[in-house]
Amino acid sequence: MRPAAGESMVMNRGMVSIIGAGPGDPELITVKALKRIQAADVILYDRLVSDALLAEARECALCIYCGKAPDLHSMSQEMIGRMLASHAAEGKQVVRLKGGDPFIFGRGGEEALVLASSGIPYEIIPGITSAVGASASSLIPLTHRGAASSFACVTGTGRDGRVSAVRWDLLAHSVDTLVIYMGISQLPQIQRELLLHGKAGHTPAALIERGTTSEERIVTGTLAELHTLAVTHHITNPALIMIGQCVLVREQLLQMQLTANASMTG
Ligand code: SAH
Repeated sequence: MRPAAGESMVMNRGMVSIIGAGPGDPELITVKALKRIQAADVILYDRLVSDALLAEARECALCIYCGKAPDLHSMSQEMIGRMLASHAAEGKQVVRLKGGDPFIFGRGGEEALVLASSGIPYEIIPGITSAVGASASSLIPLTHRGAASSFACVTGTGRDGRVSAVRWDLLAHSVDTLVIYMGISQLPQIQRELLLHGKAGHTPAALIERGTTSEERIVTGTLAELHTLAVTHHITNPALIMIGQCVLVREQLLQMQLTANASMTG
């Protein structure tokens, strides 16, 4: 395809693509994001990005790991912003690769603000956020006629590393499916807050660890059992907490699969 008039000049300018890598399964990335990875000069990537996606980079591309394990940021946000800006200013095609979607608990907005304030061209390419990816892979729909007509994604951990200051009192009643990111370390407090504010202990709930990957683990039970389930099954990050009647749809689907398998083998 020939570049349109003026386009080649634009293409030669450095820019930053802030990209969502999707929830874990490397095939769950957009075509547009994959093209940017394949064309990048420099890639700054986070912990949750799969190696298979980095393998798509050109051999000459510079791939820089930016850490981002909980409580262990190997590179400060300020330094990441500076590196993005300086590589782009040298005329490079820079990719900032983040797990899930960059604008959902991904600090993509902060990085865009740094670039905008330095006059560096940038774009945002969305990714499948882990709630959506894990919903599909765990067979737990986020909405389901008759069971859930709303869902909310919230963080379980606040800036101070303690339980998040979201309105647990309102969330306990105003949302059908509740998805909690970064909640495993705060699970006892989250469970207590929701129960305290009147959410029924028997509400179906699930923990999904490494959703959409080959290491995915899914544990289901009730809100009242969540912390015990996490401890018993040693659920660790990255993991999501899902609470709501939709969890029962998974049980229904699994039951149907079992029945179908049994009738095939019997
Ligand atoms: N931007 C990301 C979220 C980053 S915050 C997104 O849109 O998904 C990090 C949190 O995301 C983790 O603590 C965990 O709660 C969740 N997470 C990310 N990948 C996950 C996965 N594959 N399975 C379950 N949870 C995941």
